[in-house]
Amino acid sequence: MADVFDGILGQPRVRKFFRAVIASGRVTHAYLFTGPAGSNKTSAAYAFAQAIICKDKGCGTCDDCRRIMRHNHPDVHYYAPEGAQGYLIDQIRDIVADVSLAPIRASKKVYILDRVDLLGVSAANAFLKTLEEPTDQVVFILLGRTREAILPTIVSRCQVVPFRHIPATEAAGILSQHTGVSAQQARIAIEACDGSLTKAIRFAKSNERSEFRARVLDVLERLEVADGLDILDYARELIERSKAPLDNVKTKQAEELNDSAEFLTQTALKQIEARHKRALSAATSDSLRQMTAIIRSWLRDVMVVAGQSPDLVVNVDRQEGIEKAARRCDLARLVQALDEAYKTDEAIAYNVSPETCLDTLLFTISEVVYGSGSSH
Ligand SMILES: [Zn+2]
Repeated sequence: MADVFDGILGQPRVRKFFRAVIASGRVTHAYLFTGPAGSNKTSAAYAFAQAIICKDKGCGTCDDCRRIMRHNHPDVHYYAPEGAQGYLIDQIRDIVADVSLAPIRASKKVYILDRVDLLGVSAANAFLKTLEEPTDQVVFILLGRTREAILPTIVSRCQVVPFRHIPATEAAGILSQHTGVSAQQARIAIEACDGSLTKAIRFAKSNERSEFRARVLDVLERLEVADGLDILDYARELIERSKAPLDNVKTKQAEELNDSAEFLTQTALKQIEARHKRALSAATSDSLRQMTAIIRSWLRDVMVVAGQSPDLVVNVDRQEGIEKAARRCDLARLVQALDEAYKTDEAIAYNVSPETCLDTLLFTISEVVYGSGSSH
């Protein structure tokens, strides 16, 4: 029997749990999904929202189900931290105010709060009363990396649903089953998306993303003969390309605004614009993260070849360049480059200018891997 929970890939126990909850009709007011990035918590939250709101317990085909799937159901709200350090108190106040409003088209409202491990003490305090005194119209679904990273006052008010880590090889198997790409292509997509199956499915289906990946890898290979100015140019070009998929997002957003402009109040329009701005910045950082993930994946391939295990290479279509790089450097120095790549991820997450971060990373790789511009 197919249902909306089939889409929660790699999480059989979670699927079983949701089916039991929905069949019993006993949905409580607050759930906390815990699990590492890439364990499908977000898609599970939307599937659960479908089962809660749909009159047929998540048929997947009715208007409510389709709107939830497209993330534009007026009674299903998604929030992620807006501050560099986490949730802003104002953001939580907005959520609390919204909770007291009646649902617009369904009989219940669902609030999905991502990364509640980034809910600080004061923001959490502003939220506790709402979480504690639920109305039967509202279901909260909170998502966080680990139970330990979330404030105990939040955890104790929720039913905890643990998601398992999906090993890369298993994720690749699921991905190739669902998209028809080869096992090798699946591994590449999984690595580029840091293990996230949902993102990897989109990645594997997109020509634009595969061209993006090809260009990132071209640049890494060309670092062998690049001088300082070339490196700056490459960094600028890759940053530009990271922003390219945003054109799609922008077009869709402009359409949505056009469609609704004459019906909506100024306040509602402002809210849509704010949501669009958040979606754009999320798309930018996703794309930048894919770039550094592709770079890390290539560096790891160079490492496994340098460490005499060439059969572990993921980017098999780049074997030649990888072997060439592996002949030029040693393991210890590669570890240094990989470290720098992780630092780049962190810096970008903390809103350091991505251009600056990428310049540094490419210079490090050029020096560490190809030994250029250095005397040691
Ligand atoms: Zn439905």
